[in-house]
Amino acid sequence: MRIQIKNRTDNPRGQATTYDVAMDTTSENFPKNFVAELTEASPALVVTGAGISVSTGIPTYRDETGKWLRSDPITHQQFLGDFRQQQRYWGRSLLGWPAVRDAKPAPGHRLLAQLEHKGFLSHIVTQNVDRLHQRAGSTKVTDLHGRLDRVVCLSCKTFFSRDLLQKDLEHLNPGINHSTVSARPDGDADMPDQTVESVKVPKCRECEGTLMPDVVFFGGSIPAKRVTESKLALERSNSLLVIGSSLQVYSGYRFCKWAAAANKPIFLMNPGKTRADDMAKKWQVDADTGLESLLAATREKA
Ligand SMILES: [Zn+2]
Repeated sequence: MRIQIKNRTDNPRGQATTYDVAMDTTSENFPKNFVAELTEASPALVVTGAGISVSTGIPTYRDETGKWLRSDPITHQQFLGDFRQQQRYWGRSLLGWPAVRDAKPAPGHRLLAQLEHKGFLSHIVTQNVDRLHQRAGSTKVTDLHGRLDRVVCLSCKTFFSRDLLQKDLEHLNPGINHSTVSARPDGDADMPDQTVESVKVPKCRECEGTLMPDVVFFGGSIPAKRVTESKLALERSNSLLVIGSSLQVYSGYRFCKWAAAANKPIFLMNPGKTRADDMAKKWQVDADTGLESLLAATREKA
């Protein structure tokens, strides 16, 4: 089977690209029987990383060898301990948020929503904070690292919508606007240092406390309830399928350790290396192409 995909972001000139996928078990990039075995081991718990959002224009954290694509994102300790880092975060987020807010689900998000409705997967645990799975129609989703569309007050714990905060940021910082920004996966955007120093940071509307995006920064910890919910979802599943993640972050990698301990088969769909390559069946493929083939295979089976 061959699938032709046009106008992909990794093919900006819009030339048609033909991928040999799914049923071509002679391709060296395609592990034999991957789709058949995965289908047999459904329902799967699906763990998704930044790779599934790559064709939305939200860049991935890491390149195919697992190294940082860009400078390291802000850490939890930096954000809490240094007001200048909060200025940096919110100043850049002021410019970067609209691109994340307006991003449309990729084909892979929509295909996963269809696979959920077919009963192929039990639950999605995403490392992404962009809420694109929910926007694409998936209903069983755990946002492992939080969600960028909300902010939380560190003092009174009130949640506010990120759009409401955007109004405050724009009101306080009328001079900050870029016609073109480069969005980052954490909703950041590139901004010169001297501009960062002039950023005015909004306070909580209820108590004037410090606001933080409702996301787990590097160095922060994931709420225990979310981890428990995710582990229970794995227990209800017959296999683990990781899509678009190099699993460099332990919060994602530990699903592989749990699955291995429970003797559940592990499947990886990722264009580059992952930390779990030696403990799983791997298909070196991008998320959109791989999921298109997977859905086609489940149709053939039905
Ligand atoms: Zn507050």
